[in-house]
Amino acid sequence: MQMEEDWNGSLRQIKEVVGERNFETWIKPTRLSFEGGEYRLKVPSRLHQEWVSRHFLHTIVKALTEPGGSPPTIRVVVEHDGVKRESGDAATAPQAATRPAKDPASARRARGPVVGRLVAGYTFDHFIVGAANEVAYQAARSVALATGPSRFNPLFLWGSVGVGKTHLINAIAHQILRGSRSHRVGCLSAETFTNLMIHALKSDRMSEFRDRFRRLDVLILDDVQFLAGKDRTQEEFVHTFEALHGEGRQLVLTSDEAPRNIARLEERLRSRFEGGLIADMHPPTPEMRLAILRAKATARGVELAEDILLEISLRAGPSVRELEGALNRVLAFSSFTQHTVDRSLLDQLFGPLHSIEPSPAPNIATIQEKVAHYFGLRVEDLRSHRRDRLASQARQVAMFLCRSVGQAALTTIAQEFGGRDHTSVLYAVRTAERQQKENQDLARAINELQTTLREAALQSARSRP
Ligand code: ADP
Ligand code: MG
Repeated sequence: MQMEEDWNGSLRQIKEVVGERNFETWIKPTRLSFEGGEYRLKVPSRLHQEWVSRHFLHTIVKALTEPGGSPPTIRVVVEHDGVKRESGDAATAPQAATRPAKDPASARRARGPVVGRLVAGYTFDHFIVGAANEVAYQAARSVALATGPSRFNPLFLWGSVGVGKTHLINAIAHQILRGSRSHRVGCLSAETFTNLMIHALKSDRMSEFRDRFRRLDVLILDDVQFLAGKDRTQEEFVHTFEALHGEGRQLVLTSDEAPRNIARLEERLRSRFEGGLIADMHPPTPEMRLAILRAKATARGVELAEDILLEISLRAGPSVRELEGALNRVLAFSSFTQHTVDRSLLDQLFGPLHSIEPSPAPNIATIQEKVAHYFGLRVEDLRSHRRDRLASQARQVAMFLCRSVGQAALTTIAQEFGGRDHTSVLYAVRTAERQQKENQDLARAINELQTTLREAALQSARSRP
């Protein structure tokens, strides 16, 4: 069949671009068909759908485009036991996670972790899922529900403060402990791990320490960036990691940075961390914020009108913690004063809402930092004349954002990017503008970065006296 030949040829091309490992994990399990005038790429799960659409669709479209022809439409569909789910469905609509069945027998069996402690309310059913955390959420579910060794080992979740990393890893632990398996789970921060190790060293009980960790079925370590520069702890953790991983035990890690951006992390650990699935988490979209607020209010047994929830979410600071803080203030105040929660109470607590506040612009340094971070590069890579595709694309995006969100002059941008000619900035800005229309991944990257940058600018404007 003609299409099959095309696809096989394209596969070779895709493999070259995405690399062997990505190819094996993400492309190989897919099937391509041509139905109703469009290509359908069939993938085995929602996670797969999200990941392929986000990272590889552009490459696949390119590989299937005939020389001189226009790019074909490809729909990524989940084919699960013959049931299809269209690409993009609900992926952007925030929704509460499905509630796991409450089985009294399993509730009775529920135990705590062998090492560490869990936060009771941090479960999957209290976690709001949306575009900002969909991949991380799906991966976490898949790890928590895997019956055999999971495909994602280790699972590495990263994102800035308050995006829900600790919540999600607790949810994994709760779910595993609730399951029928008699799993030994360790769920603790890297800091606690370090303290336990120091204590063991001092009291000459290292072999006990090692046993304790190496007998685990699942080890979840929060905030591994804490290990940066701590050579002795890293050394010990490498051994723990290898012992567990070698036996097919699940590891889950979180950090505020992607592995390659954690400074003073031993190369061995970095490469281990990169050997599984890395999922980034982003600040919630406005719709997700509203859903989170609603869920938090409901969890506290309070019903608030939609417009009041919206008002609170608009008035609270950008992070989820600030959102929760604002809700706490409102609830505390209304219970003390017996005041019903209405607009006048909110004005009293937060001051009047100025809806036409001019939005502050982020500066070039912030833009460079966020863009470099997003693409897993260093700021120097953007400012230098590094010419490879990733650096060039990231640089174009950064320049485009400096011009659009940052409202900076071309000459200023030229100067801040290693003293280039300003016409090359103009060219880069135009290229990013044009490519956004053709490349979904890029459009999405720019969109996410714009949100992050606006939030960063808003936050620094707020923190200024
Ligand atoms: P991190 O560990 O990434 O800094 P946390 O997991 O501690 O963030 O989240 C901070 C607070 O925000 C917690 O109370 C958590 O329940 C809440 N939160 C963050 N993201 C979500 C979400 N998507 N749904 C519900 N609650 C969330
Ligand atoms: Mg945390």
